[in-house]
Amino acid sequence: MAIKIKNLTHKYNEGTPFEKVALKNINIHIKDGTFLGIIGHTGSGKSTLIQMFNGLLKPTEGQVFVKGIDIHAQNTNKKQIRQSVGLVFQYPEYQLFEMTVYDDVAYGPKNLGLEGDALKKRIEQSLRAVGLKEELWQKSPFELSGGQKRRVAIAGVLAMNPDILILDEPTAGLDPKGREELFGQLKKMHEESHLTIVLISHSMEDVARYAEELVVLYRGEVAFKGETREIFKHRRDLECIGLGVPQVRHIMDELKEKGMDIDSDVLTVEEA
Ligand code: ADP
Repeated sequence: MAIKIKNLTHKYNEGTPFEKVALKNINIHIKDGTFLGIIGHTGSGKSTLIQMFNGLLKPTEGQVFVKGIDIHAQNTNKKQIRQSVGLVFQYPEYQLFEMTVYDDVAYGPKNLGLEGDALKKRIEQSLRAVGLKEELWQKSPFELSGGQKRRVAIAGVLAMNPDILILDEPTAGLDPKGREELFGQLKKMHEESHLTIVLISHSMEDVARYAEELVVLYRGEVAFKGETREIFKHRRDLECIGLGVPQVRHIMDELKEKGMDIDSDVLTVEEA
């Protein structure tokens, strides 16, 4: 089991007039090697939840286990947990700061004490995993396109050799080509290395295409969880919480091919 969340509740500003329950009694199991999507509207608790996964936030109640270890237990090595759960925040390219792409990716593993051939191998593997060609490695990250910059930032997290990679809206602000390329690389990485990937998104289309399992958050609670194609069978309920499947023919055909229960004709007739 990669991550287990048990009876977790989180309140911001507890005990003040500004108290806000962001997550309520959450129970989630993320299996090793899964590609999991977490979906929900703005404010549904997605960002709060992922900050629980690597101990950046401590829950008001409940427990978080990473690889079977209770991360808030007194003797847990927090640094090791942070290394094991790689978190890619929104717009991670703002954190690039080295002179070259290569040095930027080297920063994390160097801090871990890696050097020589082992360091070189780790950097190169990470850059290749996100599909950045060698001719870009000695360039300044600031010379690259938006999508390329973002891939450098993801490579920097991968270079820490995490067991679990968590990405918060990784394609936000990218053009369709950049989105497709980035998702393609993530999918490939997942298939080739069985890396556990958690993708936070507000796009039903993206999670339908890429996530094998889904957690649907609604106002801080888990509304649905399970296999993506099973969850799509609750189409009406999903629409009630504002998560409709886009009514675009080519997307619907593609999703149907993947076994999703999507019937655009029925929808049109009933709603007419
Ligand atoms: P999402 O990522 O799905 O948009 P968040 O986890 O950011 O949702 O937010 C969940 C709820 O918690 C929202 O109502 C939000 O306003 C509130 N919230 C988030 N961060 C804070 C904070 N630092 N202080 C107070 N309330 C917060």
